[in-house]
Amino acid sequence: MGGWGLARQMAAMRTKRSFASHLFAAKTLWLSRVMMRVLAHFSVFIFLTAISQLGGLAWLLAIFFRHRAIVFVSTYIVLSASALWIAPMFGREPLPCLSNETLEMRSVFYCALNRQYLVPELKSVLKDYSAKMEGAFPGTKTLVLDANFPFFSGFPLLPHISHDDGRKVDLAYYYESDQVYLPGVTRSPIGYFAFENGPTDCPDNVFTLRWDLAWLQTIWPDYQLERMRMKAALQLLAEDNRVGKIFIEPHLKLRFGFDSDKIRFQGCRAARHDDHIHIQL
Ligand SMILES: [Zn+2]
Repeated sequence: MGGWGLARQMAAMRTKRSFASHLFAAKTLWLSRVMMRVLAHFSVFIFLTAISQLGGLAWLLAIFFRHRAIVFVSTYIVLSASALWIAPMFGREPLPCLSNETLEMRSVFYCALNRQYLVPELKSVLKDYSAKMEGAFPGTKTLVLDANFPFFSGFPLLPHISHDDGRKVDLAYYYESDQVYLPGVTRSPIGYFAFENGPTDCPDNVFTLRWDLAWLQTIWPDYQLERMRMKAALQLLAEDNRVGKIFIEPHLKLRFGFDSDKIRFQGCRAARHDDHIHIQL
């Protein structure tokens, strides 16, 4: 074979090799793009499931459609509306979201995320309690914050790790302004994170759920806790035999001058309870 023939052969081999390496690079790029998309969808699935339980399922279906947003929203609405009928068959009942009654969810935000479900016994505790509050203080509205998801025991309603069995619920505080009770009103729009500061033995630690959110505190309106209703709330809840535990910060228990062995401190690693009352069966 002459010199030209050898050169042609080598050039052909180089072309083949470069074609193979281009093919490999293209395949790697395609694979990494697929992996990124799977990871992105998985993250969205986890996030939507964590905040609403049913959102992840709606997303899983929607990713197979071109008009993803429309399919997601409509599937989510259908699933959430179905849960209102199906969850009671599995032992959890929804609380009313929009009503003119003495008991309702603080915000439609909770219902939009399927966070308003309870076992029937706790629902009747709340109904009885809100009726007694209304009886003692006419015009009182009892507002409910996070409750539980519609399905499955052991599925926590984050960030409330214990709200996983339908037997726990958070209630908003009662507020006043210029010594006038404010029905249906809380300092923050969702009822949480407007803290009543007071002495605490908990150390400063960033690795807990005991958030202070100091940067948020200045934006809330300057409403005060309505002392009479707050004290009556603790008393009525503690007197109910169906209620097992009530969590509120110790400095508030002292402020309202009511104690019971059911009223406990949740500990320094859990969320602060000087923005809401936690009760459980
Ligand atoms: Zn709670």
